[in-house]
Amino acid sequence: MARYTGPACRLCRREGTKLYLKGERCTTGKCALERRHTAPGQHGAANKVMREYGMQLREKQKARRYYGVLEGQFEHYFEMAEKQEGITGENLLSLLERRFDNVVYRMGMASSRKEARQLVLHAHFRLNGKKANIPSILLKVGDVISIREESRKNAKIKELLEGLASQTAPKWLEVDKDNAVAKVVALPKREDIDFPFEEQLIVELYSK
Ligand code: SF4
Repeated sequence: MARYTGPACRLCRREGTKLYLKGERCTTGKCALERRHTAPGQHGAANKVMREYGMQLREKQKARRYYGVLEGQFEHYFEMAEKQEGITGENLLSLLERRFDNVVYRMGMASSRKEARQLVLHAHFRLNGKKANIPSILLKVGDVISIREESRKNAKIKELLEGLASQTAPKWLEVDKDNAVAKVVALPKREDIDFPFEEQLIVELYSK
């Protein structure tokens, strides 16, 4: 399935919740969901009753869109989560959090996951001192992200570096804000993820 290239706000309206896909705009009155609460499309305003399958499907789509992951990739993460010890839904969210693009976003070096993905694709970051431009790389404890020296001259990177001091990273990431270096010091746990996912619904969907 191809990557969605339509309006990001339409996805939030479809899921009926803020997915924070557009950076700073999401926390202002300009957020499309603040102005229009209905789902997109001709019948978006209709009061539909959601059945069990519909709720499970929507929860999966919500998580997939929140992290900007394609359907096939998402299924792959689920299979990995199932094979791990512990609670499958929590394992799944932890895996999604550990994606390289998400970690760049969490360290405060991008205003959205989409922007983080672009920055990673353009090879602005190094992983453990080496060039890395694959957004889906799963980081592990001890991994270190830094900015490529040449990229510090880039106008966008300069702007993001200036704003880094005001960003708050999750506790599983240790961020040296002066040097814009982040180290994974623990694996993200469910309580570290502030979005109210009902991950059990996703597990139920894939367990049918
Ligand atoms: Fe979603 Fe952000 Fe658009 Fe609001 S502004 S609808 S949170 S993408």
